[in-house]
Amino acid sequence: ATDFGIKEALDQLGVKDINEGSSTGSNNFSNGEIIESYSPVDGQLIGKVKTTTRADYDKVMDAATSAFKTWRDVPAPQRGEIVRQFGNKLRDLKEPLGKLVSYEMGKSLQEGYGEVQEMIDICDFAVGLSRQLNGQTIPSERPGHVMREQWHPIGVVGIISAFNFPVAVWAWNTALAWICGDVCVWKASEKSLLCSIACQNIIAGILKENNLPEGISCIINGDYKVGEMMTTDSRIPLVSATGSTRMGRIVGKTVAERFGKSLLELGGNNAIIITPTADLKVVVPGAVFGAVGTCGQRCTSTRRLIIHESVYDKVRDAIVGAYDQIKIGNPLDENNHVGPLIDKDSVNTYLEAIEKAKAEGGNVLVEGGILEGEGYESGCYVKPAIIEAENHFEIVQHETFAPILYLMKYSGDVENAIEKQNGVAQGLSSAIMTNEMKEAEKFLSYAGSDCGIANVNIGTSGAEIGGAFGGEKETGGGRESGSDAWKVYMRRQTNTVNYSDELPLAQGIKFDL
Ligand code: NAD
Repeated sequence: ATDFGIKEALDQLGVKDINEGSSTGSNNFSNGEIIESYSPVDGQLIGKVKTTTRADYDKVMDAATSAFKTWRDVPAPQRGEIVRQFGNKLRDLKEPLGKLVSYEMGKSLQEGYGEVQEMIDICDFAVGLSRQLNGQTIPSERPGHVMREQWHPIGVVGIISAFNFPVAVWAWNTALAWICGDVCVWKASEKSLLCSIACQNIIAGILKENNLPEGISCIINGDYKVGEMMTTDSRIPLVSATGSTRMGRIVGKTVAERFGKSLLELGGNNAIIITPTADLKVVVPGAVFGAVGTCGQRCTSTRRLIIHESVYDKVRDAIVGAYDQIKIGNPLDENNHVGPLIDKDSVNTYLEAIEKAKAEGGNVLVEGGILEGEGYESGCYVKPAIIEAENHFEIVQHETFAPILYLMKYSGDVENAIEKQNGVAQGLSSAIMTNEMKEAEKFLSYAGSDCGIANVNIGTSGAEIGGAFGGEKETGGGRESGSDAWKVYMRRQTNTVNYSDELPLAQGIKFDL
């Protein structure tokens, strides 16, 4: 790890006490038991972090609720200025933060940098947005009256994030929540805690330089039990949770029970439809990167290819051929395409999924398995697998967070492919590869893909921050990032002002006194 400058990166990010004592970061009142963070890259211990106890949590909430009163008084464009400074700091620290993401999570270095770039991009977006939190003026039916709509800060936003995007998901939420006037409490994944401490240190420095309370950004550490402190806490009007559908089902219910709002970004089961006119030059990189990038650990990873029978053999052979070229190894080495899975539990889930697919009648085209030997000591490196399967297989209906790609055929019209594509419980990302305009438009129409993201001639994986990100059905329905996703971080207020000398009632109702 030292070869890749991890020690230096941690120093630059202020993440202290590596391999000794505990690293708690700034504004982190945690005093609970210790969680150790091991890298899936080489199995080494990176650092230790103390978890948040109930008493610590109450201190964090006191800091956050009091900071909210200060922060909401700061005009929105000035809040944007703070986010601008944060974005600039991220530009300065892109290299060390990207390296830490890569080392702690296991994604390729390029993707680690890419994740920090997404943080920078959302900051830029949020700065512009800080002057555009516009409401509407609405014509009133009553003379001498005016109606309008205003957007006010909602309060303390709780953020629960997954391990696979250990920094970007937080930034998507916070950059928007901050310009909206909210303060944030973040519980990162227990598998990527050092990334969250690094992020907190960066924003804490910016807040300090601007004489603002650090409670504007808080972190709490631990597993689901710490997350539950937020989901059950009515001081938190909005909980934004990213992770598995299993988690979202519990979080959504818990937050709804206290009439809180939740923004859920859950699992996907994303497919690419490959039609007879699809261009192989686009199909192969789109499908292969989608399936093996981040070792199949993206919510938008390609899980299924639905291929027209007339081009099936050609497409299958091209994809299988491309898998031969894939280099698996240390993700900090830029020559490698695929790094490790996050941990050994994940490796077991991957192995079990392959066995289940075989038991249901799947035909393995590219064998999976664990890699052993030099460079693979962490036990988390696996081979991306390709299996011919049917859409109705139980295992195909589930998201396995690993590089397993299922191939299936369709015949006849594109409607048959769309039916298969939609025939799963999840609804995050989808794509069609076609040069046939009518097929593309059908896929994008109300009768087409039922996903939150539907692409033409690009894969399912990855997204730009300018669009709203999220999906339907068991993906949870939430939208983050661009477009008008900011509205979820605010409360809407409708105002009616009477500037006449009368008090006419709505709908012409008479109430004579
Ligand atoms: P996970 O569900 O195991 O954990 C996610 C987070 O939820 C963690 O911080 C965890 O501690 C917390 N958590 C779990 N149960 C909780 C509970 N009952 N109350 C409060 N908090 C709880 O997911 P993971 O393994 O970290 O991430 C992989 C999953 O995330 C995949 O399903 C992937 O598709 C999904 N994901 C979705 C998106 C999206 O935008 N749709 C983005 C990234 C990841």
